[in-house]
Amino acid sequence: MAGGIVVGIESTAHTLSIGSVDGEGEPTPSFSAFFRPEEGGIHPREAADHHAENASTLVRQLLDSGIEGKSVSAVAFSQGPGLGPCLRVGASVARALASKWDVPLVGVNHCVAHIEIGRQQCKMDDPVLLYVSGGNTQVITRMAGRYRVLGETLDIGIGNMLDKFAREQGLPFPGGPKIEILAKQWLDENSDANLDDYILPYAVHGMDLAFSGLYAAASRLVERGAPLGAVCWSLQEHAFAACVEVAERAMAHTGKRELLLGGGVACNQRIKEMANLMSNERGAIAGIPPARYCVDNGSMIATLGRLQYLNSGPTSFDESAVKQGLRTDETQISWP
Ligand code: AMP
Ligand code: MG
Repeated sequence: MAGGIVVGIESTAHTLSIGSVDGEGEPTPSFSAFFRPEEGGIHPREAADHHAENASTLVRQLLDSGIEGKSVSAVAFSQGPGLGPCLRVGASVARALASKWDVPLVGVNHCVAHIEIGRQQCKMDDPVLLYVSGGNTQVITRMAGRYRVLGETLDIGIGNMLDKFAREQGLPFPGGPKIEILAKQWLDENSDANLDDYILPYAVHGMDLAFSGLYAAASRLVERGAPLGAVCWSLQEHAFAACVEVAERAMAHTGKRELLLGGGVACNQRIKEMANLMSNERGAIAGIPPARYCVDNGSMIATLGRLQYLNSGPTSFDESAVKQGLRTDETQISWP
């Protein structure tokens, strides 16, 4: 294994991505294709068809980047959690490459991959992770050999909530980045606005979060005539503050002094700003990986695949079936 490349394949939802890490565990940028629904949300079958149609192009790009089968030690893939049809495409591509190159397979936990690429990129030892993506919203930290979920959304993921609100307002997918632009524009142009006019319900429930009530209240505010930019601003403030509050409580309870952000919503400047403010106020540090490693990507799967392979070995062919409902805390952590 020493010196070998590990290839990683990501296909849990809208993104099919193939990346790799070198023998030292250093990731290289991934080759990715993003499924964009023409209307409505992500239909699992349509996203899987997209992945199947794009798989050979991405594999070709990986090979053209200079990676040869003889220098590859293992092929890792997202085994779960995710959309079944999408996961199965990634697993099939991984099995095909592993048998062609005659190397082992490593099935990895997608959520844990976000943590490990973040730890590696931000040089963090034992962080609390605020994982804010399309389908997932969790506050996670390592305790007794597993990444434990200390708080999470009780309904939809924060990114899906933002995308759904944006879609309803006629903004194209993915809506999160559009909401960010509208919120900033509105605030810049309305610095004297009475912000109390745009208060929404708060999404914190104990250590957990819930976003559907926030989404519904934001929609009602637009129906009642509030400017869309103002509601985008307010939606971000409420949703991000709730996430950062749960993360702060997790840091207070565990005594940990590193906050790591991960998931596509962590590309947002405002949530980064809030994470930095909270961490600074409590004498902790916030780590935010580069955007290409916050969104779903094959290199993070390769990063975790390498760690798992070196410390607990490969996944046998018989055990390589996808696990749609895989939980963050089901994966035993055998590496430092
Ligand atoms: P992931 O599921 O981790 O690949 O992340 C995708 C999600 O991130 C989608 O719901 C996007 O709307 C969201 N997202 C990406 N960029 C931003 C941004 N700048 N602000 C808010 N959400 C974002
Ligand atoms: Mg993700």
